[in-house]
Amino acid sequence: MPDEKWDDWRWQLSHRINSLDEVAQVLNLTDEEKAGLTADDKFRVDITPYFASLIDPDDPNDPIRRQVIPLGREQQAFTAMMEDSLAEDRHSPVPGLVHRYPDRVLMLVTTQCASYCRYCTRSRIVGDPTQNFNSRDHEAQLEYLRRTPQVRDVLISGGDGLTLAPKLFEKILRGLREIPHIEIIRIGSRVPVFLPQRIDDELCTMLEKYHPLWINLHFNHPNEITPEVSRAVDKLTKAGLPVGNQSVLLAGVNDCVHIQRALVHKLVENRVRPYYLYQCDLVEGSGHFRTPVGKGLEIIEGLRGHTSGYAVPTYVIDAPGGGGKIPVMPNYLISYSDHKVILRNYEGYITTYEEPEHYQKHDQSTCAYCQHERPEPGQSGVLGLLEGERMWIEPKGFEDIHARGNTEAHRLQDPSKWVPFGVGAIEGKAARPLPVLKDGVNLDTERAATDTNAGIVEAGDVESQEARNGSANGSAAGAPNDKVPYGPGEEPRPREGEPTASAHGELL
Ligand SMILES: *Cc1c(COP(=O)(O)O)cnc(C)c1O
Ligand code: SF4
Repeated sequence: MPDEKWDDWRWQLSHRINSLDEVAQVLNLTDEEKAGLTADDKFRVDITPYFASLIDPDDPNDPIRRQVIPLGREQQAFTAMMEDSLAEDRHSPVPGLVHRYPDRVLMLVTTQCASYCRYCTRSRIVGDPTQNFNSRDHEAQLEYLRRTPQVRDVLISGGDGLTLAPKLFEKILRGLREIPHIEIIRIGSRVPVFLPQRIDDELCTMLEKYHPLWINLHFNHPNEITPEVSRAVDKLTKAGLPVGNQSVLLAGVNDCVHIQRALVHKLVENRVRPYYLYQCDLVEGSGHFRTPVGKGLEIIEGLRGHTSGYAVPTYVIDAPGGGGKIPVMPNYLISYSDHKVILRNYEGYITTYEEPEHYQKHDQSTCAYCQHERPEPGQSGVLGLLEGERMWIEPKGFEDIHARGNTEAHRLQDPSKWVPFGVGAIEGKAARPLPVLKDGVNLDTERAATDTNAGIVEAGDVESQEARNGSANGSAAGAPNDKVPYGPGEEPRPREGEPTASAHGELL
């Protein structure tokens, strides 16, 4: 294929592959994929040649393949399955406009996408040209917005607005910008993932005219971030759009801490901010992609603190029945049994998410990301418990540190975590008595200089210093005395009513 064609988004769109024959030309299909591709009333299949080129033709578990090639089992119904699980149709004052939150709306401008994701939450309308929205619908949506001044944020989605004819898309942006109370416009699009060629200079120059404009993309796996995608994202950020990402947690695609960490690292490297990680919706066709909620919690636990805060998305469940996105965290997670999760949204709406009955666990033995996990002390803690390496962790370092010779001071074994700059390297305990500051004056230096403060340091010091060094023979567990310099972490608690010394910068 000549590059001019491959790099032309119009060529990519008009050469999408969808039939069994076409797909079989580029992938070695399994029987279940053949069944999926020939099923009668399946959700639409269409894959850009670019996206198909990222698939390993011989790996039936390829994470990109699983997102776009149907399996026979996607036809299987499951408990709590719904056609419109977020009750969007019920919350639509005009066709395509979902007004669920007080100050923002979702505006569906088309049902068409560049390729189709098997787990699509809007598969009831998406991909169906007979249910598409036209200019008259767009005008009705704009008219609703003109007379609804509480709306300050409009989220353009679909389908995918960036598949519309450029002129038509611009007309929608212009219409929104003419409404004074609309502060921000956001675009939700998977075009930069399926069709990065579409993000060209012409598009970016057009978008720039309608700021403040934000964009959320939809990456699920690090394999989706190619040089083409990096170029597309770079153009968007240069055009001044903050770029975010919304992922869906999918069994067999990204239900793995190590895959998710690799994904978010690649995203922030490309200046894309992970925004949401969605629990897979209870929508027809997505049964085999669903994971337990505990999997999402485990992933967030494996990211938070272990990597940049910028790289950690918020894990949300879009409320079945239409309560909006609910973060899976205290205050919102009310209760949890072996098959149901009870949640409440910001308004007090209470809903349940039914856990999948048949979750096929992520196979760590064949996952390259698990095999090359980042060595990281501390990861073995709670994750070790989750993975069954251990059953409990005994608390350490809570002993009376003086009585026990301070061999295991709580939290302080790794000095790099706590030694204040300038105090010096200390292997878990003070190598020498640290200076005691009183009213900002270093008493030790003062004493050495003038030799008039000798009374401050008493014989007891030697004894308690031995206790600190762990060389005490048991009898030297002298009670701390407030004239004694203590090593970091060894300070006695302040007396009742006394301010803590460190809070006043008195004692290092
Ligand atoms: C996701 C969504 C929004 C935007 O929600 P944020 O949490 O602000 O990103 C608005 N309306 C609907 C119907 C949505 O589904
Ligand atoms: S890009 Fe979005 S709307 Fe389109 S098929 Fe995928 S999930 Fe559905």
